[in-house]
Amino acid sequence: MRLIVVGAGIVGSACAYAASVLGADVTLIDANRTGRATSAGAGIISPWSARIDDAAYTNLACSAARAYPALVAGLAGEGETALGYRQAGALMLADSTQQQEEINQRLLARQAEWPEMGDISLLDPGQARELFPPLRPDARAVHIGGAARVDGRLISAALRRVAGRNGATVIPGDAQLRCAHGAVEGVTVAGELLEADAVVAATGAWTDAFIEPAGLTLGVTAQRGQIVHIGLGLTDTSRWPAILPSDTGHYMLAFDDSRVVAGATRETGAGFDYRVTPSGLAEVLNQALAVAPGLADGTYLETRIGFRPMGPDIRPLLGAVPGTDGLFVATGLGASGLTMGPYAGQLAARAALGLSLPVDLGPFSPVREQ
Ligand SMILES: Cc1cc2nc3c(=O)[nH]c(=O)nc-3n(C[C@H](O)[C@H](O)[C@H](O)COP(=O)(O)OP(=O)(O)OC[C@H]3O[C@@H](n4cnc5c(N)ncnc54)[C@H](O)[C@@H]3O)c2cc1C
Repeated sequence: MRLIVVGAGIVGSACAYAASVLGADVTLIDANRTGRATSAGAGIISPWSARIDDAAYTNLACSAARAYPALVAGLAGEGETALGYRQAGALMLADSTQQQEEINQRLLARQAEWPEMGDISLLDPGQARELFPPLRPDARAVHIGGAARVDGRLISAALRRVAGRNGATVIPGDAQLRCAHGAVEGVTVAGELLEADAVVAATGAWTDAFIEPAGLTLGVTAQRGQIVHIGLGLTDTSRWPAILPSDTGHYMLAFDDSRVVAGATRETGAGFDYRVTPSGLAEVLNQALAVAPGLADGTYLETRIGFRPMGPDIRPLLGAVPGTDGLFVATGLGASGLTMGPYAGQLAARAALGLSLPVDLGPFSPVREQ
């Protein structure tokens, strides 16, 4: 089975990795577009805390989080241990004891079905600051023990390396889809036709442009995110939990190299406008410092910009494209793609290879009814 995967963000890299493990003849192609979401994403894995009331979405996101430790172990078995992955936990901040209890109850209601969220505990402000010292002094929190973080750049590079060692061909280039008589022929790269039995479009926010030759539009758009990296000298941040404030979409997380990441803007309609804006920077820093004033004296390192692939609703677009045999889509993971990406990539690989699936992809059909 000749499979072409277009797009080497986390979804395409995971798809190529999974397909290579399954023995397919895989080619992974990437155009290295500016604003690849995977290269900018924060990397928090904590789907249980999301306030999203959609059973299909929740099931997919939590299944993806459940699958992460096995993926990390599998990559470690291949010698790939530098993924930035750690189950460092997360703190959901609460403004009052009542709100803290509400958060606690909401998490507990999901815990029986999704025990990998780990222990849930209520922390007073002192306990919260012990775990994340820059926090403001009055921040109470609910601690989610199983929450994790990952570095999107590192894990996707690791997935590509292992796919390559398994025999996948990884090539740079801008791929154009080729279809004829209601089926995919393959893609052209630099004028050369690469034939395939199946093509997976893991093309992120650029998916509508890529699948245009199939004669349809899925409504995938780019949502710009600006995200700030702050250095903290020699402080050991390796075990600091992610911070999830209660009332904003903003958050923080820490990595091993004395670095805190504060995110992020969610700029719907900004298009593929790869810029750091004064208002974006101000928004992210103001929100971060309001929650964690102890970061004020850190060192500004950089701002990353990524285009989140947003589908027409909260659910990813995952599965076969009706009307074009052999064409599959895996995108629309929005703000949760570093959580769901490896799992979505694996599902896309299995679907493209005609294998059984552990979840019903019906709710994620790329052309589902709105
Ligand atoms: C600021 C920010 C913070 C985030 N934080 C989190 C978080 O904390 N937790 C979480 O779970 N998720 C987070 N996300 C979301 C996550 O990063 C994305 O959902 C995910 O990375 C999307 O991956 P992808 O592979 O679908 O797309 P991308 O990573 O964008 O990759 C798409 C790839 O397709 C390639 N491509 C496109 N068209 C072509 C073509 N014609 N030919 C060849 N190649 C092509 C591009 O070059 C690109 O490399 C965040 C995102 C942003 C922007």
